[in-house]
Amino acid sequence: MTLRYLSSLTLSELERAARAVPYEQLPEELYPGVDVWIRRDDLLDPLISGNKAYKLLFNLIEAREQGAEKIITCGGAWSNHIHAVAAAGRRFGFQTIGIIRGERPKQLSATLQDAERFGMELRFVTRDLYRQRSDKDFLNLLGLDASSSLFIPEGGANLAGAQGAKFLARVIKETAPLHFDQVWLACGTGLTLAGVQAGLTDTPVIGVPVLKAGRSIFEHGMAWLKQLGGGSALEPLREGYECGGYARVSPELSGFIRSFERLTGVPLDPVYTAKLAFGFQAELKAGRVTKGKSVLLLHSGGLQGRRGLFS
Ligand SMILES: *Cc1c(COP(=O)(O)O)cnc(C)c1O
Repeated sequence: MTLRYLSSLTLSELERAARAVPYEQLPEELYPGVDVWIRRDDLLDPLISGNKAYKLLFNLIEAREQGAEKIITCGGAWSNHIHAVAAAGRRFGFQTIGIIRGERPKQLSATLQDAERFGMELRFVTRDLYRQRSDKDFLNLLGLDASSSLFIPEGGANLAGAQGAKFLARVIKETAPLHFDQVWLACGTGLTLAGVQAGLTDTPVIGVPVLKAGRSIFEHGMAWLKQLGGGSALEPLREGYECGGYARVSPELSGFIRSFERLTGVPLDPVYTAKLAFGFQAELKAGRVTKGKSVLLLHSGGLQGRRGLFS
């Protein structure tokens, strides 16, 4: 398969790329009695991929309309969002600044090395300061010149980002090779879950959280769903597959990734999509997925982050 790069910052180019994303049927032996497919948004673009691409491009289209020249955002050392922002800034001609949690280490993570190589300016801030990232004057506190710039919150979690996830749902509706009874995806903030559910009103979208966050993922998701005006409620989350917490990789999860990849040929990232596939398989085994149904798993990308955690 040939990968094509997103070549311009327009909705029609995003749509072209999104419609070309393949759906693959997963081996029956893995999922007895259920027809399981995966949509490979990790293949949307070699550098700007997965759910982060949809959230980000909607933000960048807005930035372009506003005449912004500079994108300021924040994230951790292995952030898929930081990586995508740096790559997109390079490609579409924005200056980028990444505010990174913690001290600058002697050896940068592979993600941040890439980000610098793409031209992103990295600003390391203390954890205390980083905690204030949703404050109105966060950029002031850092002494950053915010003129002609757009600030995108961590992970692309704003209304434009949610609209990007809703756009993905419309593409799924129009390109799915069959009728899916359910769509399953990995949740961090729950924004993608809300956006996809908002756009797929007749299909239950089921989220598997990748961190222990109590009710907050569900509640955030509900708030976004309301803002997007789509449907009345989210499906209950399927919890218990956090494998020790955010970005933790248990030996069981490592083993799962290896066997899943051997059986399907589909690479997973350990932070998000591995927990999705692991959780889905466990729910199926426990009898909590109805037999005879067809299910779509969303591959939300994140493979660049594998380098730090799993090889
Ligand atoms: C960020 C991310 C998610 C989670 O998205 P939310 O909208 O925060 O729930 C899922 N998968 C991958 C690969 C991600 O990078």
